[in-house]
Amino acid sequence: MNKDVERGRPQAAASMCSEAVCAMLDRVGVPRESKWRGLILYMRGIKDYDFLDNEQKERLQALVVEVLRTRDFSDAKFKEVIKANGQILSAPWNQALTRTLKETAALVQEFQETLFRHKGGVQKLENVTVEAVESGGDVERMLGTIRRGFKEMADMIERDAEKMVAMSLTDSLTGIHNRRAFDDHIHKAVAASVDTRKPLSLFMCDIDHFKRFNDEHGHRIGDQALVVVGAILKGFAEEIKRLEDRDVFASRYGGEEFAVTLADVGREEAEELAEIIRSKIERYNFVIRDPDGQILAAGIKINVSIGVAELLADCPSPGVGHLVDAADKALYLAKSSGRNQVCAYQRPRA
Ligand code: GH3
Ligand code: MG
Ligand code: MG
Repeated sequence: MNKDVERGRPQAAASMCSEAVCAMLDRVGVPRESKWRGLILYMRGIKDYDFLDNEQKERLQALVVEVLRTRDFSDAKFKEVIKANGQILSAPWNQALTRTLKETAALVQEFQETLFRHKGGVQKLENVTVEAVESGGDVERMLGTIRRGFKEMADMIERDAEKMVAMSLTDSLTGIHNRRAFDDHIHKAVAASVDTRKPLSLFMCDIDHFKRFNDEHGHRIGDQALVVVGAILKGFAEEIKRLEDRDVFASRYGGEEFAVTLADVGREEAEELAEIIRSKIERYNFVIRDPDGQILAAGIKINVSIGVAELLADCPSPGVGHLVDAADKALYLAKSSGRNQVCAYQRPRA
């Protein structure tokens, strides 16, 4: 499944080995639980991605075939394969890195502007202080003027700091919480659920066939679709907060994937809520506009698949990693069962 690849988790990819693929790897003699199994699944996963060009995809395909044919699953061969194909194998990380660098560049720019404003503020404070002292007037008035100057400066620094924190936790495209905010939040939410024994559920929500959507309509329109899905999730979170005073935290996990945590919501109810979101997105009539805002096409549909898991019910022990993995597996099930549907985590049969 692509998510694992995006997140660079060949190990998790290995655990998502479908029965048919697992049987094939057994047949060829790839040792179970070995790093080879993870690598082969990983290579199969990333070969369909658009961050590889056609030549690289073909090279990867040929490499998988060669590895399976030669049946050399030694450590030496593993190292050789990694060394010779490092550039292709690390393409997902490079893409993630580029995205992160872009976000960081925006933050640095904001920071530079902030420093510039502060420089101006310090200059102004200096002028106010010098003027107040030189005016030689009443001491109390002089101190009042200086105090006001400092207060203005402190308020400005505080506002800027708040803005920087908000920026670092917001996804620049959709305006909803970003991955950093999600990571922060889910650790606290898991700890709270363990403390209070109140349930905590997680949705992993992934747009269906989004690569095709981009190919058909272009990336600019694809971006608009991400904004729409983000807005629907955010609206849903706000509605639950308003109506039921429960904390729903909607975030962009990465790419076309969104993560939603629901505090005090058990799995059954979480499934019902996920279904409401799924059908809301399905019913949404997406309008495509040209860069001048003119409508080019209407009634375009976007579908999502959602995987649902509950912390205390579905995880071997309560932890963030287990919860994300369980929701991921449920999402994988929703995708492999035909997409545009909600699936809950299913415990593996003993
Ligand atoms: P599936 O139904 O299995 O999820 O298929 P998919 O095509 O949605 O999944 P895949 O992971 O193959 O493709 C995800 C696509 O999402 C590829 C990538 O170009 C696109 N994508 C990721 N981030 C962005 C973004 O910020 N903007 C746009 N327009 N596209 C993005
Ligand atoms: Mg995806
Ligand atoms: Mg997708």
